[in-house]
Amino acid sequence: MKRLFAPLETNSAETRAAVAPGTVSKLCELGLTVSVETGIGLKSDYADSAYTEAGAEIVADAATGYAQADIVARVNKPNAEELKQLKPGTLHISFLDPFNEKELIDDLAKRDISAISMEMIPRSTLAQKMDALSSQANLAGYAAVTMATDRMRKILPMMMTPSGTISPARFFIIGVGVAGLQAIATAKRLGARVEAFDTRPVVEEQVKSLGAKFVKVDLGEMGQTDQGYAKELTPEQLDKQRQEMAKACARADVVITTAKLFGRKAPLILNNEVLDQMQNGSILIDLAVESGGNVEGSKVGEEVVTDKGVRIIGPENLEGYYPKDATLMLASNFYNLIEHFWDKEAKDFQYKEDDEILNGCLITKGGAIVHERFKS
Ligand code: NAD
Repeated sequence: MKRLFAPLETNSAETRAAVAPGTVSKLCELGLTVSVETGIGLKSDYADSAYTEAGAEIVADAATGYAQADIVARVNKPNAEELKQLKPGTLHISFLDPFNEKELIDDLAKRDISAISMEMIPRSTLAQKMDALSSQANLAGYAAVTMATDRMRKILPMMMTPSGTISPARFFIIGVGVAGLQAIATAKRLGARVEAFDTRPVVEEQVKSLGAKFVKVDLGEMGQTDQGYAKELTPEQLDKQRQEMAKACARADVVITTAKLFGRKAPLILNNEVLDQMQNGSILIDLAVESGGNVEGSKVGEEVVTDKGVRIIGPENLEGYYPKDATLMLASNFYNLIEHFWDKEAKDFQYKEDDEILNGCLITKGGAIVHERFKS
């Protein structure tokens, strides 16, 4: 019987787990033995007992778990020490950050680990159920708004009372992918007036359908890749964007930036010149802070206040801000991936040849780097 092991995450900022009690029973139904490291769900409100009731074995330490495992499911990439503990031939499923982890990918190949990178799962309809980037970005978009409301000194909806009229808060969302769309929807539900911008023109309709206003900027040729990701702007285009963004930022009580470029550093959109034009006390939440930042001066895990009183927040692991639901969704993405490739007769993971999803996310196998993009 094949064994799947999910360790406790060693990154202290991580709140999520790759396996939830609800997916343990489903993994067992596939014919897998499931073991998890003790305390795996403590930060997401899932006790060890919930895992054992669902059919998992509790392992006291990760080394024991790795030594027995045929499949390892975890949220974050392994460190060098953890890598040494994996058996050759193990299937390792996690976020890997493959564009920035050349050495790790080489080591995974050298140690004969079959590594699947969750961020490389294609953004296709068929793969939607295993799309962890989307499930987590969706929650991050929501959390960005609740984090802002928590820190604001103003309410979101309009209120007309005998004591006076309060105008609605103004939100400006830059970057309308999965997180941006959820941020718009959440801010609208709470009664804010919302404006948004994205370099991909196809987004305008989506913004309008949520009842928000699309800020139009003529940047000349813009577009998206075949996976729907944004193309990088030229320095001239970015300059023009900054000037136009400054006007919308100056109107806003809250600006949420989510602009990312897949596999590359995020574009710096709001520089000090723009920040200086914003209102005293306005809040800026930079969701791209961990991949370089959209805002000058934003720092991971910190709130920085500018001379003009603008509060720049660079949240760390915003995807895990609501760990119970984040774990629920993530664990479901992991399960759906395994189930999709599960051979029910052989009770084993089947590496299907010429499979679009597997070709997209399998980075190493059989002692080599097999993903086209990372071979060279
Ligand atoms: P992302 O996190 O890579 O980027 C967030 C947003 O930032 C994107 O909308 C991007 O266009 C925007 N952006 C980049 N540079 C910018 C700039 N200079 N100014 C303003 N905005 C900028 O995006 P994501 O949320 O991962 O979504 C990427 C794509 O994948 C989208 O097209 C989305 O619709 C698509 N998608 C498809 C599926 C599916 O088909 N199953 C699922 C999820 C996402």
